[in-house]
Amino acid sequence: MRRVTQRVMRQVMSNMNWITLALLAVTMTAVAQQPASAPQNPQPVAATQSGQTAAQSSAAPSGQAQASLTPPTTMDQVVDRVIARESDLIKFLSPRTPIVETYLQNLTQDPQLGPIPQDDHYFLGRMDLSDSIDRSDYLQEKGKGEGEGMEKRLLGGITKRFKFQYQPLGFSWMIFADRNDFDRQHYNFHYARREFLGDVRCLVFDLTPKKDAGHGRFLGRIWVEDQDFNIVRLNGTYSRASRNSYYFHMDSWRLNLIPGYWVPAYIYSEEGDFTAGAKNKIAFKAQTRMWGYNLKTGTANDELTNIRVDSVKDDTPTAQDATPLAAEREWQQQAEDNVLERLERAGLLAPAGDVDKILQTVVNNIEITNNIELPRPVRTRVLTTSPLETFSVGNTIVVSRGLIDVLPDEGSLAMVLSHELAHIVLGHNLGSQYAFSDRMLFSDEGTYQNLGFKHIPEEEAAADKKAIEMLKASPYAQKLDSAGLFIKALQTRAPQLSALLQAHLGNNITENGTVTRMSQLANSAPALDWNKLDQIAALPLGGRVKLNPWDDKVEIVKAQPVAITSARDKMPFEVTPFFPRLSRYNTTNAPAATTATAPATTATTADAGSTPTN
Ligand SMILES: [Zn+2]
Repeated sequence: MRRVTQRVMRQVMSNMNWITLALLAVTMTAVAQQPASAPQNPQPVAATQSGQTAAQSSAAPSGQAQASLTPPTTMDQVVDRVIARESDLIKFLSPRTPIVETYLQNLTQDPQLGPIPQDDHYFLGRMDLSDSIDRSDYLQEKGKGEGEGMEKRLLGGITKRFKFQYQPLGFSWMIFADRNDFDRQHYNFHYARREFLGDVRCLVFDLTPKKDAGHGRFLGRIWVEDQDFNIVRLNGTYSRASRNSYYFHMDSWRLNLIPGYWVPAYIYSEEGDFTAGAKNKIAFKAQTRMWGYNLKTGTANDELTNIRVDSVKDDTPTAQDATPLAAEREWQQQAEDNVLERLERAGLLAPAGDVDKILQTVVNNIEITNNIELPRPVRTRVLTTSPLETFSVGNTIVVSRGLIDVLPDEGSLAMVLSHELAHIVLGHNLGSQYAFSDRMLFSDEGTYQNLGFKHIPEEEAAADKKAIEMLKASPYAQKLDSAGLFIKALQTRAPQLSALLQAHLGNNITENGTVTRMSQLANSAPALDWNKLDQIAALPLGGRVKLNPWDDKVEIVKAQPVAITSARDKMPFEVTPFFPRLSRYNTTNAPAATTATAPATTATTADAGSTPTN
């Protein structure tokens, strides 16, 4: 028997867990696209005006406009502004189709380590934020027969088959509290308190749907920054859509990446309960990230400033036709450029930046100590996605954001890069077919079907052999223990993390749950011991690379590491809640142009408030 002495909320929670076991998920038509049946009551004139003024002036960068804005004097006026700003954000985002990625881990209870991954799921798509919220997927649906059409439109929930039913769209649902009816007619706003989130002072409101507001309404808490009254965080769930429905709980964060707007960036979801006595032993945690808000939707919209001019110059001493070998290299270069440009346009590759320089340094260290001289310099780039993968195209090595996140140190990074460098050195050049421009003409969602950089097993083995040879002659020779430990840690989790280990463009690091890539390094590594607190074999996801949802740029997180106090703190390869340090655009994210009179510092942008710490 479960104790009944818990607090009311606790009781509600466990009831919900119980209820959910028997239930169906719900359709969007039943919930989200519920027509606004009640006619909109006209707002009081003064309130509407003040709301509009707030919206307009906050979108304007001018400080004068801010000053002339009358600050709201009552909580009712504040709420009016919050509603107006939210409506403004919905309008502002409606022409955009950001990428949305959800990575989810089902959990099982380990007596020593607590909840650990049991299996995982990965979703990647583009969201269309125009009329309703819709999405199209990058990943091909595999073997989903019955009711697929309907399933696609379901929200996250639980099936009657005692199983979580994950719907990609469900996890991105809480980018807005209520897309259609966020107003006083449908919600009660209760002011709770003031609170700082990072550098931003916020007003905190609890929101409950009005009695007759209908099903599937937001239920929870919002944080509103106290200058322009934009929502910066939402935390809660949605009221039951019907007797047989259920929504996941979500914690949704927005970032102030452009003047006047806070754009949805991260959503953490989690359900389940492993406390003693809990009957529902299913649990999961999931991270949803959004980026690519500023991606161009088609070549027709590209600005002229994007035209590359570097291919125009011809500085060869004597202008002649290329020799056969030179022509071959030009051809490879053309293919490489085509692929990188196409991936960047699809939002899958971060623009060249500072993280590349870090990777580049490691590559250079290996090259120099091995006396490697290549006709073209090796370049490095970062995939914006979470699955752990690498590939190389021409002379460019590409590593995924997720893989950089989980690597414990430079030695393990060198291991990852050396494998791809070996492919380049050994001349396993791939992708020359992409020198034909027609091969770049596909939809963004078709990227994974149209591009691929997989090597044959013989080349994989040869690259591993060469890579280990190069590492042993490099400055990383003394740091291969940590690389081997990483392989060991990956080996212990690989059978449960098939989605995280599914490469979409390159070769898989594992085959059938066994690590194949560079696996020889595990042989000489020390024993893996979770209880050794100073042995960090692999990190959680999201702690190292920060992806800017607006412009897709990546940077290395500079947060201070938090001391580990137990084996449960290690969380290798796991997802964790988000806790970005929020800051306002003007104070930390301002582009150099706006502070032209002051000496430019790189430090101002280094700690911008979007660090997904753990
Ligand atoms: Zn390879």
